[in-house]
Amino acid sequence: LSQPTMSKSTFLKVILLGDGGVGKSSLMNRYVTNKFDTHLFHTIGVEFLNKELEVDGHRVTLQIWDTAGQERFRSLRTPFYRGSDCCLLTFSIDDRQSFRNLANWKKEFTYYADVKDPDNFPFVVLGNKLDVSERQVSGEDVRRWCCENGGHPYFETSAKDATNVASAFEEAIQRILALDDRADDLIHTNTVDLERETRSKPICC
Ligand code: GDP
Repeated sequence: LSQPTMSKSTFLKVILLGDGGVGKSSLMNRYVTNKFDTHLFHTIGVEFLNKELEVDGHRVTLQIWDTAGQERFRSLRTPFYRGSDCCLLTFSIDDRQSFRNLANWKKEFTYYADVKDPDNFPFVVLGNKLDVSERQVSGEDVRRWCCENGGHPYFETSAKDATNVASAFEEAIQRILALDDRADDLIHTNTVDLERETRSKPICC
């Protein structure tokens, strides 16, 4: 008797890092539930959400970690960071300091996640709150920083109006899979449905 074929399932961990208030929980919530209000998240302390995806006919479980509340529990960094397949370095385009801090977040992640080869680790940079009018960080400055620091792809997002959120997460998935021999054949994502979002490419060097 032949056994039923088990479908391949790949588990990927993605972590959102960046200053408090830049919109990490909101981005995670928008991507996974397509909602914006994160009040409940902070109240009950949601730390990660799973999203099941189908990538070229194969199942992928994306586990997205938000570091909300972590400022209060610095000693927990290692378990939060370890095992991440991709790090989304997040700032808010209306907060210059949050952009300046990206370098620190990257350094901290690399250290605590014990990344052996930081030059080849998939970081994706997100400039959130694209919908606000008081911009403090120019796209050009971010692009330059990304080029000088390893050529990270950059997306300008709005968790509020769902601009580029799915594109950014899909880029993260593609970066992981492109590096990862667990899933050589799973390069194109095609089933994440965020209404209203037209997919866009990252801003690259
Ligand atoms: P976190 O601390 O990085 O997880 O940030 P939150 O997701 O809690 O968001 C902090 C604040 O920014 C909240 O008041 C959100 O409603 C707001 N926020 C998050 N994303 C956006 C966005 O894309 N646009 C605007 N205008 N506000 C946002």
